[in-house]
Amino acid sequence: MFRHRTSFSGGIKLAMPDRIAADAVVRQMPFAPLLRLPLRQHAGAAAVAVVRAGEEVLRGQLLARAEDETAVPLHAPATGRVVRIGEQSDGAGGTVGVIELAPLPGDTQEQARERTFDADRLDADELLAAIREAGIIGLGGERGPTHQRLQRARKRGVAVLVINGIEGEPGFTRVPALLARHGSDVISGARFLGKVLGSQDAVLAVEKPDANSASAMLADSENHDRPVLAVLRPRYPQGAAELLVRTLARRPVEGIPAFNAEKAMVFSLATVAEIGRLLSHGLTMTDQLITLAGDGLRDTGNYRVPLGTPVGFALAQAGAHSELDRVLDGGPMRGHALGHLDRPITKGATGFVAMVANEQASLPEPMACIRCGECVAACPLQLHPAELGLLARRGEIQAMVEDWHLERCFECGCCAYVCPSHIPLVQMFRAAKKQSRRAKALAAGEEPA
Ligand code: SF4
Ligand code: SF4
Repeated sequence: MFRHRTSFSGGIKLAMPDRIAADAVVRQMPFAPLLRLPLRQHAGAAAVAVVRAGEEVLRGQLLARAEDETAVPLHAPATGRVVRIGEQSDGAGGTVGVIELAPLPGDTQEQARERTFDADRLDADELLAAIREAGIIGLGGERGPTHQRLQRARKRGVAVLVINGIEGEPGFTRVPALLARHGSDVISGARFLGKVLGSQDAVLAVEKPDANSASAMLADSENHDRPVLAVLRPRYPQGAAELLVRTLARRPVEGIPAFNAEKAMVFSLATVAEIGRLLSHGLTMTDQLITLAGDGLRDTGNYRVPLGTPVGFALAQAGAHSELDRVLDGGPMRGHALGHLDRPITKGATGFVAMVANEQASLPEPMACIRCGECVAACPLQLHPAELGLLARRGEIQAMVEDWHLERCFECGCCAYVCPSHIPLVQMFRAAKKQSRRAKALAAGEEPA
């Protein structure tokens, strides 16, 4: 019997269907004829190409090296030929370097394996270097280089490693797939991270629909230092690191002598599994596990997709409807509409939602704010979305930032979800943040992003 912890204040209760066997299935996506690999796929500096156009490369081979601490290396997702090294739009008005790779159709596509790693034999510095060399970045909401986060965390000291097994978006099913198919990788990843951080304890936090799979996964592990399980009542957006730590700290976690919120560090389940998978087998990061969802697809579910695959190609493989109206990068609550489907799938992708035309047509028109306060009650950070919305309409961006803490908003979408006037609060906040950052950059004499 699980004891379900109480949650944070605010947020919303979304319908959480029970997990079905299909949620744990992962299908392999075939190679697209051309893979397009941006040299920067994360927050930080771009990698620097070490291959030339026309060169043949092996799957897993280094394509671009990291030249500073904020960069991660890039490896070939397929054995193939480098077709072009050039520039492409970064989707934010600038450009970024890109390597285009044509997979060789007749090749076995076995990944070239490097050295395998063992948490018992290697020291923390060697494991940290291995995480960096494998090209790993945060695969949940946090998309920065994992080695850089770890370096910072080592300085401040971490007592508890929190493995975030909470689905970030309704309708996404990466958590059951990871628990069912990558259990041993999760356990190894937790051990690698524990050694790097010097932390003794680890907690795996999941919500009720995933409790049985998580429990079975832990029971299968032969390691005695496996994480302890914390089962939480489903509540969106509980997977946000700040809220998760707050929830876990509210009551002591069984098996963890002292849960210190200040000394806890959260990693997504996907990141932990990827660290375990890559380091244990001497692999580099060449693909990503994503969910493809939405009424516009016949074969929704989880796919392992080679990096650089165009979104349109991936959707076509999942049986995309011929008249897709909108595709979201991310889930229904926090996703952004994609401008075009040629965009490549990169390391930080979690999933896409493809919608047919009639879904958007049925979106109701926004009306005036009726001051009901629903959005205020729903905001998990206790911001004041109604006031922020009013200021956004008046263009008073400075007041939004200075007086109403706009930058704290992490765009969870709860306020817009509950608003009976259908005011697109999140889109307004996103636009205001962009404007504010642009103004700040200009004032500092920098080129706005
Ligand atoms: S989108 Fe921002 S303002 Fe709205 S509920 Fe979430 S954190 Fe609060
Ligand atoms: S929920 Fe909508 S209508 Fe109600 S106070 Fe907030 S913005 Fe206004």
